Amino acid sequence: MFWSERAQRILQGIHLSRDEALRLLMSSDDELLELLNAAFTIRKHYFGRAVTIHVIQNAKSGLCSEDCAFCSQAGGANTDSPRYALQKVEELVEGARDAHRLKAMRYCIVTSGKSPETEELDIICEAARQIKKEVPIQICVSLGLLTVGQSLKLKKAGVDRFNHNLESSERFYPSICTTHSFADRKRTAEIVKASGMELCSGGLIGMGESLEDRVEMAFALHEVEADSIPLNFLDPRPGTALENLTRPSPADCLRTLAMFRFVHPDKEIRVAGGREACLGSMQVLSLYPANSIFTKGYLTTPGQGYEEDMDMIAKAGFHVTDWTAA
Ligand code: SF4
Repeated sequence: MFWSERAQRILQGIHLSRDEALRLLMSSDDELLELLNAAFTIRKHYFGRAVTIHVIQNAKSGLCSEDCAFCSQAGGANTDSPRYALQKVEELVEGARDAHRLKAMRYCIVTSGKSPETEELDIICEAARQIKKEVPIQICVSLGLLTVGQSLKLKKAGVDRFNHNLESSERFYPSICTTHSFADRKRTAEIVKASGMELCSGGLIGMGESLEDRVEMAFALHEVEADSIPLNFLDPRPGTALENLTRPSPADCLRTLAMFRFVHPDKEIRVAGGREACLGSMQVLSLYPANSIFTKGYLTTPGQGYEEDMDMIAKAGFHVTDWTAA
């Protein structure tokens, strides 16, 4: 009953402390269903049984200068992930049309690399302008580190939201990336908010971080006022620096999602990469704390498929928010 009662107090505005968040992550498997039910109480209060669908466009792949240990597009990674330069405006607009046909609420244009070149930013902005004229869909872009000027340009072109994950805690970040810093990432998050775009920022669990690191990441996302939080679960890719780690267990993933729901009661929380690989047959339970998913796969790995996602949502009694009528 503890977590159910704590959920009620969350709805009364009594925030979760760091100690409570850690205690939640340390709770036993015997408590898992009660914990998910408690997280669902909060989720239902703010979002009902609606699930928002996001579709990713891998607009520029591979060839990255950075050394993020988890990433199959990192410069030092020895993977067979695709490598290509930024797609053309028409390809990006066509991707938005496809996403809209799937009833996606958001179309997420993602590029590899530390930060966008001027010509690349111009292409993204032109695509955003054309999409906004033609397709009723929210646009999110993920382009790496941004300057103030770049952020304002994206906002002016009609980009609604910018993704820039904090990835982990400040303490753990140097263990997974040495080519840029946690402070760099936080600065971009602050620039995005100051420019008037929404901020999508989350992270990845299962990289060897401690439970305390997960709690610190959750509270750091409070500090940067993330509007939307994607949580990825490490599915170690062969050829990356983390290839020998094991996947986090389904219960571990679900507890972490529940902790994020308790810490960020009214924010969009998305079950992101690794959903199928790490949660397996338990992935449907992730919809109880989370209210959003990616469908049609991720950047370099496929998902279970759009039809399967829709079937899972419907059979569990949830429904997709229909944006096609907009
Ligand atoms: S996460 Fe982004 S910045 Fe880091 S290596 Fe991968 S593509 Fe590059």
